[in-house]
Amino acid sequence: MNARIHRGAAQVGGNCVELESSGQRLLLDLGMPLDVEEGEIPLPEVAGLRAEDPSLLGVLVSHLHGDHCGLVPFARPGLPLGMGATAARILREAEFFTSRPPLPEPYWPLDDRQPFQVGPFRVTPYQVEHSALDAFALLVEGGGRRLLYSGDLRAHGNDRAPWERLTADPPRDVHALLLEGTQIGGGREGEGPTEAELGAALAARFQAWPGLVLAAWSSQNLDRLRTIYQAARQAGRTLVIDLYTATLAQAAGAAGVPVPGDEGLAVYCRRRERHQVKEAQAFERVRAVHGVRVFPEELAARASELVVMLRPSMAGELEQVGALGGALAIWSLWRGYLEGPTERRLRAALDRHGVPLELHHVSGHAYVTDLRRLVDAVRPGCVVPIHTQGPQGYAQALPGVVAKPDGVWWDT
Ligand SMILES: [Zn+2]
Ligand SMILES: [Zn+2]
Repeated sequence: MNARIHRGAAQVGGNCVELESSGQRLLLDLGMPLDVEEGEIPLPEVAGLRAEDPSLLGVLVSHLHGDHCGLVPFARPGLPLGMGATAARILREAEFFTSRPPLPEPYWPLDDRQPFQVGPFRVTPYQVEHSALDAFALLVEGGGRRLLYSGDLRAHGNDRAPWERLTADPPRDVHALLLEGTQIGGGREGEGPTEAELGAALAARFQAWPGLVLAAWSSQNLDRLRTIYQAARQAGRTLVIDLYTATLAQAAGAAGVPVPGDEGLAVYCRRRERHQVKEAQAFERVRAVHGVRVFPEELAARASELVVMLRPSMAGELEQVGALGGALAIWSLWRGYLEGPTERRLRAALDRHGVPLELHHVSGHAYVTDLRRLVDAVRPGCVVPIHTQGPQGYAQALPGVVAKPDGVWWDT
């Protein structure tokens, strides 16, 4: 079996790996790079992605993040797709709000340790924990060789079970482990905080703050929704999420992920969402949460009882209804996103009202110590860097590293 990384050998985001065995090919992930210009569609140079080529059998997507599946809608129609059924459902529900092009229905719904055959390839998904639900590492066997692709994963989320299972009973006799190393390089070494520790810190802040708490996090990060909901419950506050996040939580139907109707969870329809509903005449979407809605004029009056999900685009409407005075803002996302144009406008609005902005975040990616634990458990023939800014840092962090550049075929 031969492999080539199209994107990811020395960058985070836009992962794509092509595998070849007996003249047939399979793609692992088809992600949109994070630094892409608006309107640009950088499909990798893979025969069969644009025009029909029967030797390309399909694409398997490790998880629902755009940097792993964002280019799938731009591949030729009819190219078979494999991904988790829950992940596909979440993305389908997201389309109403994000207006991103739809993904096809998965032809191979991935399931933990349920192997299936794709031409000469035997594929076994291994469930992993990540800041997106329904994420998988993928074991691919072909031509007598075994390659394990980690996708994105971590050991410090709310659900420890997938990590424990993966390290206690990993795939055996792996020749090459393509391992994400988002945390390798850039001085981010060793251990870091867990979601549980983040939750405890947030509960303390929610409890201590006398006024409204605004909390920003990614709607697709349903594990963070779990963390923030638990923290709000501990502090005796109601968590108010937007309609988009409520819709994704319902689509996930996952244990521990709160949904409208659960105690202490309410829904605020943002101005943008109200417009989207009106434009699409999709009034059933607001009717479905009618009993648990919090309206703009309630925010200031009920300030001390609420934690309200904050989206950067909400600055204007929060300012208008007088919700910013006396508020605290929590940023539970990567710090770098604060430099975006909408985020800068948000920060300016917070500044105008003297709202402090605190960073409380933990990474969606495994710390270096945990990556080492995984490598020790799998004992692969070699470790190949992917999804990393620091491939040169792998050799200090991990044993058996063999870096492969983008675009070059190698024998697994
Ligand atoms: Zn990623
Ligand atoms: Zn990811």
